[in-house]
Amino acid sequence: MVHFVGAGPGAPDLITRRGAALLEQADVVIYAGSLVNPALLGLCREGCRVYDSARMTLEEVLDVMIPVSQRGEQVVRLHTGDPSLYGAIREQMDILREKNIPFDVTPGVSSFCAAAGAVEGEYTLPGVSQSVIITRMAGRTPVPERESIPALAAHGATMVIFLSAGMLDKLQEQLLQGAYTLETPAALVYKASWPEEKVVRCPLGELAQKGREHNISKTALVLVGDFLAGDYQRSKLYDPSFTTGYREGKP
Ligand code: SAH
Repeated sequence: MVHFVGAGPGAPDLITRRGAALLEQADVVIYAGSLVNPALLGLCREGCRVYDSARMTLEEVLDVMIPVSQRGEQVVRLHTGDPSLYGAIREQMDILREKNIPFDVTPGVSSFCAAAGAVEGEYTLPGVSQSVIITRMAGRTPVPERESIPALAAHGATMVIFLSAGMLDKLQEQLLQGAYTLETPAALVYKASWPEEKVVRCPLGELAQKGREHNISKTALVLVGDFLAGDYQRSKLYDPSFTTGYREGKP
């Protein structure tokens, strides 16, 4: 059987208990070496075979996974954060399904959640934004035109931009073509939850310059939106005058 497991954002104690248990009993682990904290491999039992997928193609990954799982051994495919975001798991699952190899998916704490923790922020503030747009700049992987940064930035919602810290000049320029202004608050979060985590806050107009100053060009998320500023409304749920299924409101 193949277990796709989210490793979490980096700190080894941010993997789920289920993910950790699967790692402990795995016969083979294939991990995304560029981003998964190698400390997690310390959970593997002695004799577990470990492969770094940073050096492998999809075909090479499958060539390891398929015969091993056909022999009845347990394979853990360890992806950074949550595997559903930029994890390239669909192409693996489709081939396993075709070959009748059973698999399951264990979610992980995505880096965008760790980044919110790092800035001590809440993405969905009443009166500010109730939506989070998770996206990326087009790189070698194209992004559909209707999802271009200016098109998504037109909403002025909370945005979390992955895989784009190496293109901050272009990103800043494109974000400014939407609803944000030079003063809209932004943050660069480098290696959220790792010991070397860095948080750089700045107005959007200074994003690229701050990236250069702090030498951040990879393994970082860009957060944009007024959720990083001071103003918001209190929640209705916890308002004393609000009646819910669990609590009678008082005028
Ligand atoms: N599945 C992962 C994302 C993989 S794409 C997740 O859910 O987080 C790789 C990109 O994720 C990186 O280029 C970077 O933008 C972001 N990333 C991954 N780990 C990060 C971390 N600890 N801190 C900040 N950004 C991170």
